[in-house]
Amino acid sequence: MTDHRRLGRELELFVSDPLAGAGLPIWLPAGAAARHAVEAYVHELERRAGYQHVYSPPLGKRELFELSGHLGYFADDMFPPMRLSPDDEFVLRPALCPHHALVFRARGRSYRELPLRVGELGGMYRAERSGVLGGLSRVRAISLNDAHNFCALDQVGEEVAAILALIREAHAALGVRPAGFRLSLRGPGQRYVGTDEQWRRAEDLLREALNGVDVVEAPGDAAFYGPKIDIQVADPTGRESSLATVQLDFDKPEKFDLSYTGSDGVRRRPVMVHRSLVGSMERLFAHLIEAHDGAFPPWYAPVQVTVLPVDPDDPGQAAAADRLARDAIALGLRAEVDGGGSLGSRIRDTARRRVPYVAVLGAREAADGAVALRLRDGRRLDPRPAADALALVASVVATRSAALLP
Ligand SMILES: [Zn+2]
Repeated sequence: MTDHRRLGRELELFVSDPLAGAGLPIWLPAGAAARHAVEAYVHELERRAGYQHVYSPPLGKRELFELSGHLGYFADDMFPPMRLSPDDEFVLRPALCPHHALVFRARGRSYRELPLRVGELGGMYRAERSGVLGGLSRVRAISLNDAHNFCALDQVGEEVAAILALIREAHAALGVRPAGFRLSLRGPGQRYVGTDEQWRRAEDLLREALNGVDVVEAPGDAAFYGPKIDIQVADPTGRESSLATVQLDFDKPEKFDLSYTGSDGVRRRPVMVHRSLVGSMERLFAHLIEAHDGAFPPWYAPVQVTVLPVDPDDPGQAAAADRLARDAIALGLRAEVDGGGSLGSRIRDTARRRVPYVAVLGAREAADGAVALRLRDGRRLDPRPAADALALVASVVATRSAALLP
């Protein structure tokens, strides 16, 4: 069994240092490079789908989270408030929704703007008990791929369907294997906001959007403000977890008194759809590291090309290796030169680190401006002009293919 904590250490993706605190991992350069590639991809996917991105702070006044209901329903999962003075208390936010409600409310809204899709990769916090923390899968500081889509009631079905399509697209690009859908509903013995009528309507809308899809119902797993669809993914051992989610909320628009002007000039309440395509970066990478055994698809591999001069002490080879790495970086690739130790040990090291492309370059290649590529899966390509080799790698990266060759 692959353990993302062990691989995270071996591949130098992240570190958990007790001095920083349990559940507060630090992303090392290799992990940060992979995460940045994924974040940039998701951001662009959302931009093309009509999302508008914002930035909001990871903490806010106590009153904001009293209004949202989080302090009433979710306080056990939150860090205790911080008091600057008796009437100035702040909390680390447990969700981004309250800030995004304020984005909607920043000015008057018209029906022409709906659905208004407010996206953010934002920080939030959970006061997890130290016993349940491990690696990236359960953390106290969370970076969530989040958005809140404000819709007219009759737009909700289409909007949820569009979100499910985006989730499929993102999961396919990341190499995440879908394992089914869960419809999380209210259960007995828990506290929820909103009226029965609101809950019934929200459940009907989600069932409609899931029309024809096999779904497992999970009573008791709803959010405190509404039902949700969780998109399950499976790791190589078949263990399921959920990354993506779509939730309907009639309550927060009321709490925050959100409204828009309809085509008839009448003020109406929008519906708030909470959604995440890939979940938090922490839980996503816990899954990706295990699902790929650390061998990420080339487009988000921390290093995509390692250049190995056969004899690093030969000035011609060293110069050609530096030039190749510089050209790769100029093309937008992540590349490095490794010139320390025997060629065999350097090749073994790139295999251990799952580098997808290794460019080997001896005296003849240096003289010819050529390079021989070795692929992570053991295949070797004949020497070819350096520019052609880089173009090949760049084309695989650009298509976000999981395969190493076009
Ligand atoms: Zn939310």
